[in-house]
Amino acid sequence: MTDTGGPGEREDRPGAGRSRNRRRRIILSELALTVTFTLAVGLGLAQRDALDSTALFLAGWALNLVVLVLCCTLPWSRISGRWVILMPLLDFVAIGLARAAAGDALSGVGLLAAFPVVWIAASRVRTAAAVAITVLASLAIIWFPVLAQPGPVTLDTVVDPILLPIMLTGLAWFVSELTKDNRRRQAALQASQAALRDSVEAGRARERLLGTVLDTVSVGLLAVDAHGHDILMNARQREGHAAAAPPGNDDPTEAELLIFGEDRVTPVPPERRPVLRAVGGEDLDGEQVWVGTGRSQRALSISSRSMHDDEGAFTGTVVSFNDVTELLRALHAKDDFLSNVSHEFRTPLTSILGYLELTVERRGSLPEDVTGFVQVARRNALRLERLVEDLLAINAGTFQVHPVPTDVGRILAEAASSGLIRATRAGVQLVNRAPAGLPAVADPVRLAQAVDNLLSNAVKYNRRGGSITLDASVGEDGLTVRVEDTGIGIEAEELHQVFDRFFRSSSVRSSSVPGVGLGLLITRSIVNEHGGSITVTSEPGVGTCFSMTIPQPAPSAG
Ligand code: ADP
Repeated sequence: MTDTGGPGEREDRPGAGRSRNRRRRIILSELALTVTFTLAVGLGLAQRDALDSTALFLAGWALNLVVLVLCCTLPWSRISGRWVILMPLLDFVAIGLARAAAGDALSGVGLLAAFPVVWIAASRVRTAAAVAITVLASLAIIWFPVLAQPGPVTLDTVVDPILLPIMLTGLAWFVSELTKDNRRRQAALQASQAALRDSVEAGRARERLLGTVLDTVSVGLLAVDAHGHDILMNARQREGHAAAAPPGNDDPTEAELLIFGEDRVTPVPPERRPVLRAVGGEDLDGEQVWVGTGRSQRALSISSRSMHDDEGAFTGTVVSFNDVTELLRALHAKDDFLSNVSHEFRTPLTSILGYLELTVERRGSLPEDVTGFVQVARRNALRLERLVEDLLAINAGTFQVHPVPTDVGRILAEAASSGLIRATRAGVQLVNRAPAGLPAVADPVRLAQAVDNLLSNAVKYNRRGGSITLDASVGEDGLTVRVEDTGIGIEAEELHQVFDRFFRSSSVRSSSVPGVGLGLLITRSIVNEHGGSITVTSEPGVGTCFSMTIPQPAPSAG
């Protein structure tokens, strides 16, 4: 048996509040009985003559009042819950006295026992205990007068009084089960409320974490729903958005923002603006724009990824804005530097080469070994001159090509024969499968330069005992030139970078093979200027194949 604080008792309030509640419940439980008891006493006194004993009747009532006073005054917060049950038990005694005194006049007084029965059954007392107490107490109430009355106990005298204990026992059982069920529901409700509180708290914690992460990263982030409404914007993006706003407009639409193209002055048309395209479902990768004007103008690299629900419907997009202003400035500074240095190199180089040419022309008057030294110096000066020319051409961003009808077979044969010297020195076999005469339209000098670059790489990135195959044909797509080698190859993840400026693969960077990573960029520029394309396939340790295709004009009729 535990706390009998009264019907519907709750245990979810801690400390003083909980003990105040308990006192209130005890008093209310008792007060309901006292009020009914008092009314019954009033009725009893109205037919005082019919009572067996008025004094005993009033004594029962008085005991009930005493119990009420006890309920009101006892320090329940310091009394163990199990003692509360004494109150309804005392009530049984009070009701027993009143019933005994009422005799036949007011036999319904016994029904008052329903109050303490409900009190006990609705408390935390077990069903079996509540039923047992009810049976005993109600039997005592009913049977005490039966047994106390003079004369023998007959069937007639016991049949009627047996009904009340049965009813009260059923009531105790019913209320106890109901209370138990209620309590189970309440516990389940409290558990689910606690789980809900926990998940709300966890959600808040995650939100705080996400907010902090978003505001810590130096990339602007924006999440937009399927209708283009902002869902989330981090601090960095708020600053960026403000910087892109036209002067005097604090809340511009996307179309009103100051967004410019690569030249920093041509506005990007609204339908081409990255955010609007991302909202339209497009995934962007490093789209570059300039935002704002004047000194505060910034370069942004914009990427986005769309979001979809379980059915695959577009639900919005997340856009990232990376400020690449400093990077672009650094790249410009580097380009300017390379361009200036190349210009500065060109004049002295031309002079060195001129004097070396003059010296070579007079080789008859020089000792043989000195002629050899001069030849080496001239070769290296020429290499340097080629590098300087390439750097200047790359910086200018274009290679002028002048396609003319030419014999590509002859160009390839010459390239192969000069490549053969290097290949033989490196222990590599070079085979030229291109037809001796192959007429096509191309810039002979630039084409020779492109093939030279490919053959030079095929030798440099090969192995002793390896081979190189040069081949060419003219077909539907135009002129195709292929350079295939059995060299070191290129890793798959680096393959897409081979045409990038200054790219050198990781294995080559750590080797002693000379190079600056411009050859393939120049080769691709030459092919592109012809309106053609270049592709590469490679397998590490097996070899690499470059294939250039240059479209040819349709043969004129006749
Ligand atoms: P460079 O040869 O001066 O380094 P390139 O632009 O000609 O510059 O080539 C860029 C990079 O591509 C090279 O450094 C090398 O890592 C890789 N590469 C080019 N051609 C080949 C090839 N035939 N085999 C293997 N790797 C190659």
